[in-house]
Amino acid sequence: MTRYIFITGGVVSSLGKGLASAALAALLQARGFKIRLRKLDPYINVDPGTMSPYQHGEVYVTDDGAETDLDLGHYERFTGVPSRRSDNITTGRIYSDVIARERRGDYLGATIQVIPHITDRIKAFIGGDLDGEDFVLCEIGGTVGDIEGLPFLEAIRQFGNEVGRERALYVHLTLVPYISSAGEIKTKPTQHSVKELLSVGIQPDILLVRTDRPIPEAERKKIALFCNVRREAVIPALDMKTIYAVPLALHEEGLDAEVCRYFRLTPPPPDLARWRTIVERITKPEGEVTIAVVGKYTGLLDAYKSLAEALAHGGIANNVHVRMNWIDSEIFEQEDTVQRLEEVHGILVPGGFGERGAEGKIAAARFARERQVPYFGICFGMQMAVIEAARSLAGIEGACSSEFGACKEPVVGMMTEWVKGDRVEKRPQGGDMGGSMRLGAYPCMLSPNSRARAIYAQDLISERHRHRYEVNINYLARLEQAGLLFSGMSPDGQLPEIVEIPEHPWFIGVQFHPELKSKPFEPHPLFISFISAAVTQARLV
Ligand code: GLN
Repeated sequence: MTRYIFITGGVVSSLGKGLASAALAALLQARGFKIRLRKLDPYINVDPGTMSPYQHGEVYVTDDGAETDLDLGHYERFTGVPSRRSDNITTGRIYSDVIARERRGDYLGATIQVIPHITDRIKAFIGGDLDGEDFVLCEIGGTVGDIEGLPFLEAIRQFGNEVGRERALYVHLTLVPYISSAGEIKTKPTQHSVKELLSVGIQPDILLVRTDRPIPEAERKKIALFCNVRREAVIPALDMKTIYAVPLALHEEGLDAEVCRYFRLTPPPPDLARWRTIVERITKPEGEVTIAVVGKYTGLLDAYKSLAEALAHGGIANNVHVRMNWIDSEIFEQEDTVQRLEEVHGILVPGGFGERGAEGKIAAARFARERQVPYFGICFGMQMAVIEAARSLAGIEGACSSEFGACKEPVVGMMTEWVKGDRVEKRPQGGDMGGSMRLGAYPCMLSPNSRARAIYAQDLISERHRHRYEVNINYLARLEQAGLLFSGMSPDGQLPEIVEIPEHPWFIGVQFHPELKSKPFEPHPLFISFISAAVTQARLV
């Protein structure tokens, strides 16, 4: 029997609802349950694929090629359960679906309304595409009281009513602020937030209260009294040094026990050994390496969420702390600025779009290549490294990417056709922007005797993609003559997936996004190897 847990947020945004949901799922998993996590986003974009990372952080890509909310990345990192397209919906997707049905005549004769037509679609999504899970955890994006969120709250209220309260639990995450002038913590915002939720017919069963200090017993009782929940169901969620300590902390506060009590389940206590090991390694590293991340959205760390986590996982595997030096690539477009890279032990150029800052990324790749500093280029970072090598090593002076407009030597060019499984995908030049990239998992063959093959210890790998442009196969022979090795190719041999410089201590560019699949308990092999190279570099400098 599948049970449903709905997680809403109140008072302010950015309280870490996604992390709390992921941590609760990890705890239930550690008690032996099969779980699935889903995100319901009230914004009107069909998916976050067209949003600037400054608006909504990174776009997380699933194996089945969906561009989704970054919380799905937390879900995968905490549980190891691969997310699917059906695990993230938005108002935009629900409405386009309902409108398409209306045009087809599916509702012939009816007036289409938010209740029941929109709410019915939301409910169908919540309970659809499941696989015998014990628990489905559904996080509702935004904050209670947002206009866009209303149909979602109404849908989860109806859902709980339909499956029965013994199969549905509502968790509400709020903030208990400390007012320094009064020297007190305040419960009133939580009370108001619960009232707001009650006004749409939802009585929360568990309150997760975010706070920067322990909540005194009297305040915990007060919250319980005013919000109509048991005292044990008021769970403090304190700020943690590392996000991977959150499952342990919430377990200590009794969250999973309370969930089991609610559903009248008596599973064995959770096995949290792996979480203890991870936290131990993060809090007691044996050394430190510094990695320069040369990108564009360096002002907002959420824009590179999975990347920062994957680097940290590489650190866990090597027992070191990874200090990340986020540098805006544009600064390397001025003279003598690459010297700033002298102190670092590794340079990473992540995914990116557009011409701004591209020459700075090329300069960073050149510095890494010439100075023998470990270099990791991901997607755009691979493309820029190839352009750099084409110019400096292969003598292709005008080497560039057709992403930046017409170019004479399109070493990186637009893909208009590629093979997915047994069919050919086509895209017109200048078609729609939304969902039109090469998206999701694709296989890649590794060359024997290459560094990539040694790192993965496999011949055939699968990694996730999100790009429109590709290294142009017509330049491959010239680039290989100049010292590059294309050690990973699509199985049909048409698309370069991995490039390396065998003569360099560690220089690898990948067309895909390995950071999306890294987990704290299963760090990605490329990140393990890159950080290990940085450790060697740290001994050298
Ligand atoms: N802008 C490049 C492309 O579309 C790289 C994309 C990326 O780094 N995700 O191919």
